[in-house]
Amino acid sequence: GVRPDEDLLTGLNPPQREAVIYRGPALLIVAGAGSGKTSVLTRRIASLLRGREAWPSQILAITFTNKAAGEMRERVSHLIGDRAQGMWISTFHSACVRILRREAEQFGFTKAFTIYDSGDSRALIKRLVKEHEADSFGLTPAGVQSRISKLKNELADAESYARQANLSDPAERIFVDLFTEYQRALQKANAFDFDDLIGQVVYLFRAFPHIADVYRRRFRHILVDEYQDTNHAQYALIHELTRPPGSDSGPVASSGGMMIFDDRETEEASSLTVVGDSDQSIYAFRGADIRNITEFERDYPGAKVVLLEQNYRSTQNILSAANAVISNNFDRKDKKLWTDVGEGEKIVGFTGYSQHDEAQFVADEVEVLRRAGTDYSEMAVFYRTNSQSRALEEIFIRSAVPYKIMGGTKFYERAEIKDALAYLVAVANPADEMAVRRILNKPRRGIGDVTETAIARYAADEGITFRDALANSSALGVGPKIQAAIAQLDAVLAEASDIMLPATGELAPSTSVADGLQVLLGKSGYTDALRASRDPQDEARVENLDELVAVAREFARNNPEGTVIDFLAEVALVSDADDLEDASGSVSLMTMHTAKGLEYDAVFVTGVEEDLIPHRISANEPGGPQEERRLFYVGVTRARKRLYLSLAMTRAQFGEVTVAMPSRFLQEIPSDLVHWRQSPGDVNSRGGTRSRALNARGPGAQSGGSRYGDDLVPLPRRESTNLDKFANRLPAKLRDNGDMELAPGDRIRHENYGEGRVDMITGEGAKRIAYVKFDSHGQKKLLIKVAPIEKL
Ligand code: ATP
Ligand code: MG
Repeated sequence: GVRPDEDLLTGLNPPQREAVIYRGPALLIVAGAGSGKTSVLTRRIASLLRGREAWPSQILAITFTNKAAGEMRERVSHLIGDRAQGMWISTFHSACVRILRREAEQFGFTKAFTIYDSGDSRALIKRLVKEHEADSFGLTPAGVQSRISKLKNELADAESYARQANLSDPAERIFVDLFTEYQRALQKANAFDFDDLIGQVVYLFRAFPHIADVYRRRFRHILVDEYQDTNHAQYALIHELTRPPGSDSGPVASSGGMMIFDDRETEEASSLTVVGDSDQSIYAFRGADIRNITEFERDYPGAKVVLLEQNYRSTQNILSAANAVISNNFDRKDKKLWTDVGEGEKIVGFTGYSQHDEAQFVADEVEVLRRAGTDYSEMAVFYRTNSQSRALEEIFIRSAVPYKIMGGTKFYERAEIKDALAYLVAVANPADEMAVRRILNKPRRGIGDVTETAIARYAADEGITFRDALANSSALGVGPKIQAAIAQLDAVLAEASDIMLPATGELAPSTSVADGLQVLLGKSGYTDALRASRDPQDEARVENLDELVAVAREFARNNPEGTVIDFLAEVALVSDADDLEDASGSVSLMTMHTAKGLEYDAVFVTGVEEDLIPHRISANEPGGPQEERRLFYVGVTRARKRLYLSLAMTRAQFGEVTVAMPSRFLQEIPSDLVHWRQSPGDVNSRGGTRSRALNARGPGAQSGGSRYGDDLVPLPRRESTNLDKFANRLPAKLRDNGDMELAPGDRIRHENYGEGRVDMITGEGAKRIAYVKFDSHGQKKLLIKVAPIEKL
């Protein structure tokens, strides 16, 4: 007969098809980039549901980012319709938060727990390091944090670490103390850090087999994307979930010497599907263990293995370059990707004199592609380190190319956003003392260290929380002004609490989050203080807070049942690849790490230089250069049709201007695959070649070797590409043509492009854009306010 999922199989190649329809306890799909791993996973879920082999609630699918989870959910819904409701498609962290919300009370937490991001953990560790004067033993907060994180990823706790540590070394003893106290402080604050989210669920499942069984029975089909980047804790979590239910509960009773086993003991384990590519393993530095994939067959005996080799994403030229580079890693199984879409365009290489020159090349080329019909949203620019984005941003802004930064400049890491969230935490999880302390004197209300200590002492004496101590301001023995300030803060928190946590103790639905937030920011005087400030940055901060309120409203729309707790969790779990705003209509800028799993028509890999990619810190790490090669491979294989590899001969980084060397990875690409617009040789050699290259780049290049001066005023880092917002935030020092009266027909002179004629003006105020036809540089779009132009 016809399979009910026949239509789900159309267009798949035979191994893809096999991977979708295979039914058995364990399936491993190993395949190179762009071979359809994620697509196959999605179809496999759809096929299970379509054939009614599984209820949606029996599916647990793990993706690497929330964004990827959203996309997968959407595709499954699209393939099978509404029945996709009830599936768990999420990241490891989000899935564990959901489990912990249900089970936290089993082990001394409440379901209102907070999630500490790495900045929060750092702050806590910093305090402990200071208290223990641990720095005199060479322990830094960053070092302690990363060691604790690594240990947790290995599922070690302070106690198990202490058992094998060399405790005659005082630094080791102090480290163990710090680890112990850090954990104690988290527990007291009713908080988990990122690593705990996973580790504590593993602990929970091991300590309470009957709870683990609930999830083993529930999730009958577990699927994991990007399996090559799982760490040991994540591996253990999957392992726990895929044991047969009842298997570690043992006999339920014994009678007269006869063991009576629960008949559930014979229940089957859930099925597990993992997909991954060991060539794309790029998180070893965070504890990812490639062995999770290479040893899958040992861990799951009898596992079916499917290999996919046809790539559907990129042209042959792009693939050949990727294959050539990755084949230099000696510790890998050779696999060759192929495609039948044809050779495609050659890869374009470009060497700039400086990073600004390189950025200008990218911006110009983006415009060329755009005019040829590629959407901005189909283009991406990658770099190895976040700091490289600045030069790109500067040029993109001046060229009025819309762009957005994915990750990196994290909205949720901004001080004002952290403050606002701390206000919410102070209401939702008053046990979280760090949050309450954070807002104590924000805005300034005259509460200094002395008062803070007095509150803490009072709380300790009375055996109450720091938050509750605020309600007794008259007992603190502080002056009347400060007492009034504390009472006012207490009243604001109480009022917000009534809105967000009604009297029954039940959490109010999410519509109240935005309202509560507005009360907190308004009545505390926080927003007013920013408004009253003369610092131009504070205006932007007010906008960011408005944006946060908007995010809360959006959250309410998407999660009618969601509470302030859920909102805080969602916000805490926003990852690099996730975004506040929709990227449509703009070019995406991101690090190569963030690019994993994504694809674009045109990709610019920038800064292809020694010390950047491979990054100089990798040279000392075992396996470091290989991991960098995999990272480069990830970047290159994101491109569908066009790939640009660029570098700069000089680069201001690490606080100095350095002469950069082309990356070794460039040499690993067969030279016939690359068309150099300007090769490292053109730029390096003096004389003929150099001046020819200069002439080819136009007269602007003559001045100082770069078409763009290196004296650009640094622009503030920001989280959005919105020109409106940006134009209002320009630092005063930057050129401001805000009031230049330009009209079509006017002639202007541009610092780099020379003379030209204005064709058209669009936009208003600070975001007016001039479309200028330059006499020798063609048409350009300029943001009038900041463009280096004068009217003739
Ligand atoms: P990565 O390793 O980068 O995560 P992947 O193996 O997960 O890649 P997908 O993202 O699933 O690959 O697929 C890459 C592209 O190929 C997507 O655009 C997808 O729609 C397309 N694709 C996959 N399989 C087929 C097929 N059989 N026919 C046509 N297009 C396909
Ligand atoms: Mg994928």
